Amino acid sequence: SLLYSNMQLPHRAPALPPSEVPSKSKVVWEKFSHQSNFQRLLYHYGTFPQDFSWGVSSSAYQIEGGWDADGKGPSIWDVFTQTPGNTPANANGDVACDSYNRLDEDLYMLRALRVKSYRFSLSWSRIFPDGTRSSLNQKGVDYYNRLINGLLANKITPMVTIYHWDLTQALQDRGGWENVDMIDIFNDYCDFCFATFGDRVKLWMTINQPHSIAWLGYGLGTIPPKIKNPGISPYIVAHNLIKAHAKAYHTYDDKYRASQGGLVSIALNADWIEPKDVNVLREVRAADRALQFQLGWFAHPIFKNGDYPDAMKWQVANKSELQDLSESRLPSFTEEEKNYIRGTADMFCINHYTTKIASHVTGQLSPYSYQHDKDLSEAEESDSPTTDIKNQRAVAWGLRRLLNWIKEEYGDPQIYVTESGVGTSTEVTVDDTDRVFYYKTYADEALKAQSLDGVNVKGYMATSLMDSFEWLNGYNIGFGLHHVDFTNPNRPRTPKRSAHYYYQVMKDNGFPLPDDEKILYGEFPKDFYWSTASASYQVGNSIPNLFQQ
Ligand code: BGC
Repeated sequence: SLLYSNMQLPHRAPALPPSEVPSKSKVVWEKFSHQSNFQRLLYHYGTFPQDFSWGVSSSAYQIEGGWDADGKGPSIWDVFTQTPGNTPANANGDVACDSYNRLDEDLYMLRALRVKSYRFSLSWSRIFPDGTRSSLNQKGVDYYNRLINGLLANKITPMVTIYHWDLTQALQDRGGWENVDMIDIFNDYCDFCFATFGDRVKLWMTINQPHSIAWLGYGLGTIPPKIKNPGISPYIVAHNLIKAHAKAYHTYDDKYRASQGGLVSIALNADWIEPKDVNVLREVRAADRALQFQLGWFAHPIFKNGDYPDAMKWQVANKSELQDLSESRLPSFTEEEKNYIRGTADMFCINHYTTKIASHVTGQLSPYSYQHDKDLSEAEESDSPTTDIKNQRAVAWGLRRLLNWIKEEYGDPQIYVTESGVGTSTEVTVDDTDRVFYYKTYADEALKAQSLDGVNVKGYMATSLMDSFEWLNGYNIGFGLHHVDFTNPNRPRTPKRSAHYYYQVMKDNGFPLPDDEKILYGEFPKDFYWSTASASYQVGNSIPNLFQQ
């Protein structure tokens, strides 16, 4: 029941041709994979364009608490974490950072950091306790109005994620994202958000990390709704998520764009994937396939031609055939749907944390080749790439390559890095050297991409504003620039070293050459006398003619 109105909107760019296999963007591997360690680590001094958007991010379930306050309905994460045995020490988000009751404290931190933008998400079940408009909870809406108004009063641009994993439980009871009805239900929720907050919110992301929802929620089954059906459900779920996103985008176009003038996108996630050996074609293909299965799964339909990447279509179709299935487990889009889906994002929002190595594995049955990737500096195989945050390595140069890949692959879009960060043990309170190093190097690689490679990088959001409920890691790991004392009912927030450091980076708009090094690059006075020196005994007879001529 998609609405096919407004199919040829003037601002929608023509479809891009499908990716080749390996994609054209293999130029990125050719350009960078031969870099020496020294070149890779060279620090780049410079600054971003004036309008560069610096910020921090958070998400509703991770910080808000107030899980049943003022009429909020339960989400799948409430139900999951309140069931014993699902998280370390049965940690849950019942209180979390208590942001629902501590809005002023959050605004204070943001103001002190002087961020230009704040990326947060709306809790669906706080706004619609049963997931649909008829259950509207005005108190939930009031909370977000206070937050948005508080940000604007401090000249901080709100970047709003409409849905960041915490699906209303009542909708899960109706089948969750396996149910096609979710397309219309989600659209109506987005419609409400645009109508209610869109006079002040100009940057929207419909869904956070659809890949994680589909793969971790319905494939590996590690996060709620804990469905473990790897070959089938993730494809159905992703199909519905993509259509739901596209429909919400069209709703914005049809009803709000003219009066509100905002931008709508979706926050996708990708690790950078480096081939095991860049000189071996099938290894490059393996890396390309891994990127297409992770990022291309969603980005290829939305940013290219409305359809899945060929690499993915072939792989899943072949494997389905080997399994004697009459059709591919990967569903297909009709021509009409392809037209409807392509071009439904006004900017590219990417969440990025780490880099992996892909290697070609023969005879492997799973279409998810990156399941078999090895973490860059680790020997053992990791099979849950995006939740294994404890073992993620800081590989800053991977961000530069990923940004270049996105530029090549998706027609040079405007890119916002909407999440980037590193987890550290919450036993470390304020002395988070690892995080300082992470932002120093990652933000510098974003700068290299922007100023040396001409990638259209428009913003960088550090994840996260403060230590939060970190999903399957509970409170053992924190990504925050601020430490939160979760044992104290007041949940006091304390800036870590990284908050001070990031403040300075944002203030400097990057990494201007430090004053004490400028002298190394300065000039001598005009009349400075340049010459060479020698001593006759050292020179001997070897170059006398030079001076005699
Ligand atoms: C999620 C964030 C989370 C981060 C670290 C990302 O994949 O989008 O919400 O804070 O991982 O766990």
